Amino acid sequence: MVTNQPYQAGRHFLQIPGPTNVPDRILRAIDGATIDHRGPAFEGLARRVLDGLKPIFQTKDAVVIYPASGTGAWEAALVNTLSPGDKVLMAETGQFASLWRMLAERLGLEVQFLSGDWRHGVQSGQIAAALAEDKNQRVKAVCCVHNETSTGVTSDIAGVRRAMDDVGHPALLMVDTISSLASIDYRHDEWGVDVTIGGSQKGLMLPPGLSFNALGAKALKAHESAGMTRSYWDWSSMLQANKGGAFPYTPATNLLYGLDEAIVMLQEEGLTNVFQRHARLAEATRRAVRVWGLETVAKEADEKSNSLTAVMLPEGHDADAFRSVVLQRFNMSLGNGLGRLAGRVFRIGHLGDFNELMLAGTLSGVEMGLAAAGVPHERGGVQAALDYLSTP
Ligand SMILES: *Cc1c(COP(=O)(O)O)cnc(C)c1O
Repeated sequence: MVTNQPYQAGRHFLQIPGPTNVPDRILRAIDGATIDHRGPAFEGLARRVLDGLKPIFQTKDAVVIYPASGTGAWEAALVNTLSPGDKVLMAETGQFASLWRMLAERLGLEVQFLSGDWRHGVQSGQIAAALAEDKNQRVKAVCCVHNETSTGVTSDIAGVRRAMDDVGHPALLMVDTISSLASIDYRHDEWGVDVTIGGSQKGLMLPPGLSFNALGAKALKAHESAGMTRSYWDWSSMLQANKGGAFPYTPATNLLYGLDEAIVMLQEEGLTNVFQRHARLAEATRRAVRVWGLETVAKEADEKSNSLTAVMLPEGHDADAFRSVVLQRFNMSLGNGLGRLAGRVFRIGHLGDFNELMLAGTLSGVEMGLAAAGVPHERGGVQAALDYLSTP
């Protein structure tokens, strides 16, 4: 690949919270020759990945696959279940919740946006209160981001479900798991979620380009009478084609090779172990941040994300200037601050195909970068992480 940058030796550290490092096994799988997507070999692949995705969402429901980024799967969830002018309830957890709101409004939905401070998860109490006030049941869906990637805050989705049930409101529950799927425990069936939205480029370890909807029975029922215009995203045509191991249009065949391999890798490691690995690496990261004397965006201990950590720089220090020192000096990409956190925050992605030594390198790059960029901090964060990781 031709770039206008000089060659930097060694492996680049891609420590943004998605896209994540794509493991060699998946790159090799994607490298296969593209096959006829209407032939017999493809049918086996399609059935394997469609079935293999279910345990990852912890569901028995159907999961559909779009050749699209996560945003496409957001749109699919809304246009397949709602009608023009319907009201939806969303919680302002951060930039991704705000983008989803904008998408819903552009589609002609009325959004009641419960305001938040970008440092907390979804407040179940706020959801319950809003639904209790909705006497005519105009709210047709509650939409939440499970893991808010702009802030590193994870929300309690089971709690949202309970809040909805407590007030006996029939709205659908839709959840964005794009940066938590296959890295933080998420249970579509047990938590009574009606539509779950996922993406390929984060915990699933794939390049960008695939996204998913898991479809609960109540969502499929709503789909029958949903009046929004849709064609490309239509669940019915997708499910019809999927029944025969096919897609209604040309699928992203080579990404499906990669997905097939990712599913095998997750099965080999075991989902529980995958979640534990993420929890451990996240805890080590938080210990380093604490010793540096920096603050995470996430306020509550039980809401701190296990897939990424968003860190605030001291007043008067530009997070983007710091990130560019880290990139130039140490060949590592860290996530930028998004929306209202732009320039104030950097984000460490610790999800996907990632282990202790990669984290040690990542945290070393951050600590050296803080020194090189002249950001005031205490030394020894890396040591605290290593101490934690070296205990059995
Ligand atoms: C990455 C991400 C998205 C956006 O997905 P795209 O693939 O960029 O369309 C949406 N929601 C969350 C929570 C994300 O982390």
